[in-house]
Amino acid sequence: MSLRTLESLGSLAGKTVIVRCDLNVPLEHGTISDDGRIRASLPTLENLIGQGAKVVVISHLGRPGGVDLALSLAPVARCLSELLDRTVAFARDTIGPEATRVVSGLEDGGVAMLENLRFSPAETAKDVTERAAFAHELSGFGDAFVSDGFGVVHRKQASVFELPGLLPSAAGLLVAEELTMLANLTTAPARPYTVVLGGSKVSDKLGVIGHLLPLVDSLLIGGGMMFTFLAAQGNAVGASLLERDQLDAARGYLDQARELGVRIVLPVDVVVASGFAAGADHVITPVERMEDTDFGVTGIGLDIGPDSASLFAEIIESSKTVFWNGPMGVFEFSEFANGTRAVAAALTRVNGLTVVGGGDSAAAVRALDFDDGQFGHISTGGGASLEFLEGKHLPGLEALGWR
Ligand code: ADP
Ligand code: MG
Repeated sequence: MSLRTLESLGSLAGKTVIVRCDLNVPLEHGTISDDGRIRASLPTLENLIGQGAKVVVISHLGRPGGVDLALSLAPVARCLSELLDRTVAFARDTIGPEATRVVSGLEDGGVAMLENLRFSPAETAKDVTERAAFAHELSGFGDAFVSDGFGVVHRKQASVFELPGLLPSAAGLLVAEELTMLANLTTAPARPYTVVLGGSKVSDKLGVIGHLLPLVDSLLIGGGMMFTFLAAQGNAVGASLLERDQLDAARGYLDQARELGVRIVLPVDVVVASGFAAGADHVITPVERMEDTDFGVTGIGLDIGPDSASLFAEIIESSKTVFWNGPMGVFEFSEFANGTRAVAAALTRVNGLTVVGGGDSAAAVRALDFDDGQFGHISTGGGASLEFLEGKHLPGLEALGWR
């Protein structure tokens, strides 16, 4: 079966349409530092507004453990309102009385946004009956449902997996476009095919390596993930991000790669800092000597070093297909952005297909002044695009008729 598209819903004029977006944007002291995901949601929202639908936008922001006003969607609603150049009515609850009032006050072509879905633990509950009950409450707000949060389609969550089953539902334009673009990577990718992984969601992403290894020629590992591999090879990593319970898994991947004849390439040098802060003292050190700096065991690795950046760039530039997810270092602090900048620059020089996936990775290339047009595709989903590449069945897509 193929994905149900927006057109399959017929005319939506006068109907109330719930749209699940992924507006999980990076916030710095309450301000949105990259609005890429909000912009990416505009085509679907503008389409629905143009049809004269009443549009109810739902999304999560961050990983709150209950109501946490620091992660309110209110600033996102203000940003969306500016980008759409129209009022976005914001409800300070998700399924409560204010949401009901705001939604029932919508006129045709009007837009409302409900508060952060994850303020309700039921959104991400393991228990299916809890999720189903929450999805049922949400479904009461609309006549139809559009799933356009590509960044979350790999999650079995109430608004992603259960909700589409309760209303006439379809994929939004962003989800449809992402799938078309990513399919170019899975159907006979031109070789050499290189995947570059980094970022901080280490345990989330380690699992994908086993699936990716048989597909690729080279896997380059930087970011927070590198320390688990470097430690697995016997290096001391000081206070760097380390998933101790994944050391065996990392060793397993290194063995598996050897058997498959796939290259796993790890950094040869690291930028070690005195602490996790902008402007922290830092030195470049070979990976074997991470605890031999002035910072000793308290030193924390915040970027790949320059030799690693050159090594990575060389492999990337000689590839025909490159997928990159996860910054190479803490690019938010300019001293630790060099590895990420070098990898991004290398991608722009590839003679072939390049795809950047992940909210923070996309934010990084923009923050470092690259242009979206310098890459084949910038995906709004990190985990989702990785799982798609692995050929996994994504719950949020299956709920829309995919496969
Ligand atoms: P994406 O959103 O692109 O999928 P992640 O969410 O996994 O990426 O990770 C992004 C974050 O990883 C960035 O905020 C960056 O600061 C952080 N990061 C990168 N390298 C390191 C490191 N060595 N130590 C800690 N955090 C890191
Ligand atoms: Mg992220």
